[in-house]
Amino acid sequence: MAFENDIELKELIRKAALLNAVSHDGKAQAGAMVGKILGERQDLRTKAKELSSIINTIVNEVNSLSVAEQKAIVEKKWPETQKKEKTEEKRLPPLPNADKYSQIVTRFSPNPDCVLHLGSARAIILSHEYARMYNGKFILRFEDTDPKVKMPSLIFYDSIRQDLKWLGCKVDEEYIQSDRLLIYYDYTERLIRDGNAYVCECPTEEFRRKIIAKEPCPCRILSASESLERWNRMLGGGYAEGQAVVRVKTDLENPNPAVRDWPALRVIDTKKYPHPRVGSKYIVWPLYNLAAGLDDHLMGMTHIIRGKEHYTNMVRQKYMYEHLGWKYPEAIHYGRLKITGTFLSKSKIIQGVKEGIYTGFDDPRLGTFAALRKRGITPEAIKKMIIDVGTKSNDVTLSWENMYSYNREILDAASTRYLFVPEPVELKVLQVPKTFHAKLPLHPEKPERGFREYMMTPKDGEKAVNFWVSRKDAEAMEAEQIVRLMELFNIKIENKKNSSVTATFSSESYEDVRKIKVQLIQWIPKGKEFPCQVVMPNASVTEGFAESACKKLKPDAIIQFERFGFTRINEVNQKLIAYYAHK
Ligand SMILES: [Zn+2]
Repeated sequence: MAFENDIELKELIRKAALLNAVSHDGKAQAGAMVGKILGERQDLRTKAKELSSIINTIVNEVNSLSVAEQKAIVEKKWPETQKKEKTEEKRLPPLPNADKYSQIVTRFSPNPDCVLHLGSARAIILSHEYARMYNGKFILRFEDTDPKVKMPSLIFYDSIRQDLKWLGCKVDEEYIQSDRLLIYYDYTERLIRDGNAYVCECPTEEFRRKIIAKEPCPCRILSASESLERWNRMLGGGYAEGQAVVRVKTDLENPNPAVRDWPALRVIDTKKYPHPRVGSKYIVWPLYNLAAGLDDHLMGMTHIIRGKEHYTNMVRQKYMYEHLGWKYPEAIHYGRLKITGTFLSKSKIIQGVKEGIYTGFDDPRLGTFAALRKRGITPEAIKKMIIDVGTKSNDVTLSWENMYSYNREILDAASTRYLFVPEPVELKVLQVPKTFHAKLPLHPEKPERGFREYMMTPKDGEKAVNFWVSRKDAEAMEAEQIVRLMELFNIKIENKKNSSVTATFSSESYEDVRKIKVQLIQWIPKGKEFPCQVVMPNASVTEGFAESACKKLKPDAIIQFERFGFTRINEVNQKLIAYYAHK
């Protein structure tokens, strides 16, 4: 039969070769294809030799194309084979009423009283992603108007900017509320003058009793000019802390007593509690709803994307918007995102760092972005996870394992492989028949990334080669057992002592031992070790040897130690210091 004229067969081979090529960086492997073609064309079983010659010809043709050309052909002729990656990319649902606005504006508005942690990821990523999706504007607003209880600290402004940058969230505009006090005073004065706010001197308990009974306190019924007088006294220092508060008027019938005539500004003794940026320049400070509510309008926010715990704040602020004749932005309230096994409370993080329980804000036990960064959790993984969760209003609980699986998907393709032997134990292999030249690929599927090479020459007499293996592997070894040193050769265990194992060379090929399912273990030739410390997620340290090729690694590289896990290189000096990400 003249294969040369079998167009259908040639097309089948061409397809297999192109698909094989695009998944192997442009180089199809003829060997892998014979079996595949024979599986589909059983009539050719007796003609395997002629078949391989045609396959070789077509593979050579395909391999002479560039990767881009190969991909273009595959995408055009067999798009169904490529769609997997594309449909996996999940997009966010459209924003409500987006077409009503000429430009979409969103914001992330943290209090710089702590570093950011995973609990903020949703607010940041959703707000930023929507701004980009609509070609809009993403604003970073520091809400630093509580110098007493939630005291901001200068270092956190910078760490927040750095975290956003790391997350890939580009800030289009930045505001700091402590620069804007005079703006808040102006609007407060307008609210008071219009009879929509007042200065309340009532002790808290007395006010509460009245408001629960839906009754106005005596301050509410004062005239606007009397209220303005009190306001000026407040600004002039005529009230001490706790003696006066500005309240915005609401419907006293509102079903939620916590909404009724909510507090908007109060006095803080900034001599005692100076603000880190403006010191004791101001003594009247806005509370959350006044400052955030005014700013959202003044900064042109079109969509506020935040946790549903803010729902009541929206109800409060809408009264103020009504007083000022403004339209409230579109608000999306998503559910809580809980990560099991992390505690995310800011106060516990700060206290723990202060008391030295944690080594710093990047202690691997913390769920801060700084800690995740240090461990080699990629911002891409965090972003993908958050977008997959979306804007649902129900609470979502994720585990660390969920995040690791997003991260693993990214790192598996990106990171190079090295050998690490935790708690090293000496292994002496006798009767090694020749010099072995191990050429280990940096990535098993990407030979173009290169190799590292180790030469092992047996010493005269015993023909011994010495290695390091991990204590755990050594402990699992038994006399007579066959074990394979990964990508090197097979050995037979002879005897074990406390701190060393002796074995003999058994055979070279993996095929020899594949059937008996031997353990593949990692190894380092003695003399090619590089001391290494891996800081684990619970802050414990695993000591061991990395292979000497790791001396060339740069800080921040994320690599995989085979059979150990993904780690981020933190320091390369006399020692390698790495942080563990996950398996
Ligand atoms: Zn009052």
